[in-house]
Amino acid sequence: MSLERKFFGTNGIRGIPGVDLTLEFIVEMSQAIGTYFGKGPILVGYDGRLSSPLISKAVSAGVMASGLDVSEAGLTPTPGLQYSVKKLGYNGGVMITASHNPPQYNGIKVVGPDGVEIPRQDEVEIERIYIDRVYKRADWRDIGSYRSESAVIQTYIEGTLSQVDEDVIKKRDLKVVLDLGNSVATLAIPYALSSLGCKVLTINGHIDGEFSGRGPEPTPSTLSGLSNNVKSSGADVGIAYDGDGDRAIFCDEKGIIHWGDMTGTLLVNYLLKKSPGALVVTTVSTSQMVDLVAKKRSSKVLRTRVGSVEVSRAMIDNDALLGLEENGGFFYAPHIQVRDGLMTSLLILEALSHDGRPFSEILLELPKFHQRKAKFQCPNEIKMEVMREIERRSKGKVEKIDGVKIWADESTWILLRPSGTEPLIRVFGESKDAKILDELIERYSSIVVEIIEKIKEG
Ligand code: MG
Repeated sequence: MSLERKFFGTNGIRGIPGVDLTLEFIVEMSQAIGTYFGKGPILVGYDGRLSSPLISKAVSAGVMASGLDVSEAGLTPTPGLQYSVKKLGYNGGVMITASHNPPQYNGIKVVGPDGVEIPRQDEVEIERIYIDRVYKRADWRDIGSYRSESAVIQTYIEGTLSQVDEDVIKKRDLKVVLDLGNSVATLAIPYALSSLGCKVLTINGHIDGEFSGRGPEPTPSTLSGLSNNVKSSGADVGIAYDGDGDRAIFCDEKGIIHWGDMTGTLLVNYLLKKSPGALVVTTVSTSQMVDLVAKKRSSKVLRTRVGSVEVSRAMIDNDALLGLEENGGFFYAPHIQVRDGLMTSLLILEALSHDGRPFSEILLELPKFHQRKAKFQCPNEIKMEVMREIERRSKGKVEKIDGVKIWADESTWILLRPSGTEPLIRVFGESKDAKILDELIERYSSIVVEIIEKIKEG
C-alpha cells in the first residue's frame, strides 16, 4: 500500500475552515474516522481557535453518524486530550487544532487508544475509506450518543504531577514567568506550577482565538516580552508555549531564550543519570549535542524523519524512554509518548531544583555547536526532482533518513530537506567550527539555487 497521503500532513489534516476545511468535508471525513475506529467511545477536544467549537461539533456529528459514542472534552491542550484518551480508557480521540499555525488555520488530529497520533498507514486507511465513500452510516437506532467529559484537565494535571518529585521542586521555591501565548496551555499549566509552590507570573494568559499577544508560535523573535519579564521580575525561569500547549520554549534567568535542542539535551542529560542506557529518539535535524550527552550515559540515540508522530511511534516500537525535537517538543514515555509542554516544564523545574544552580549555568555545561539555517523558494511540483539532483551531487558520508544529510567531517553536517507544507527547500547545518560551516552552507546554497533554476528552465 502506498503511504502517499492526500489530506493528512505532518500533523493531521490542516487547512482554512470554509476553504479547505468545509463543513461537508469535515463531516464526511469524520464518518471515515469513525468507521476506521469501529468502536467508541471517542474523546473530542479542541484548542482556542475561533473555528474550533464549530469543527468539534461537526467532527462529533460525523463520528456519531458512523455509530460511535462521543464525549466532548471541550477546550484542552493537545497533550491533555491525548493523555486523557489513554488514562480514561477511550478507544480513540480527535483533537481540533492547528498548533502553531496562524489563527485562520485549523486542523484535525486523530489519536489511537494509547493517546498517540495514529500511524501513517492508518491515516492512509482513513483516506481510503473517505475517498471510496465506504464509511458506515448508522441506522437510527445505532447512532452514537453524546456526553461531555469534564475530567480531562484534572486528569492531565494529576498525571503529569505524578511523574515528578514534588518535594524537591517545592523546596527550591522557584519564580516562573509563563508566556501562555493566549493558548489553551493556560487551562492547566499555571495551576500545576502553583501546586508545586512556584511563584507564577503569566503573560498572554487569556485564551484568544486570534492569538493577539505574540502569536501561536514561540520563537526567539516572538519572545522578547517573556525575556523582559523574566529579567524585570528576577524570575528563575521563563517558559513559552505554542498554540496547543504541546511544545515549550525556555528562557534562562538572564532573559536568554534557548531553542529546544538545548533544553531537550539538558533533560536527556538529567534523566539518563537516573536511567543510564535508556534509548533516546529524535529527528534527523536535531543537534548532535544529544548524541554526545547520551553517549556519556551509555545510551543510544535513534534518528527518525522530521515530525512528532515519527518520534512518538519510534519510541513505542523501540521501547524508548525519551524523545525530543529541536522545536521544543519533548516526549517522556513514563507519562505518554507524545510531546507535552506541561510535562516538559515540570521535568525542567525538577532538574533545576535538583541541581540548585541558576538555569544559565547548567546550560553552559552542554556541548556547544554553531548552527546555521537557510531556505530557498522552490515550486512544490519540482521539489522531488530537485532533491534527487541534490542527492546525486552530494559527496562524502550521506544519510537519507529524511532529505539528504551530508557529513563534511566528524562534527560538521548539513541537512537539505523539502518543506512538508511550503514551496521551500530548507537547509540546516551544524559544526564545531563556524568557518567550515559557513563555507559548507554557502557551497550547498549555490548548488541548490543552481539546481532549482536549471529544473525550472526545463
Ligand atoms: Mg503544537
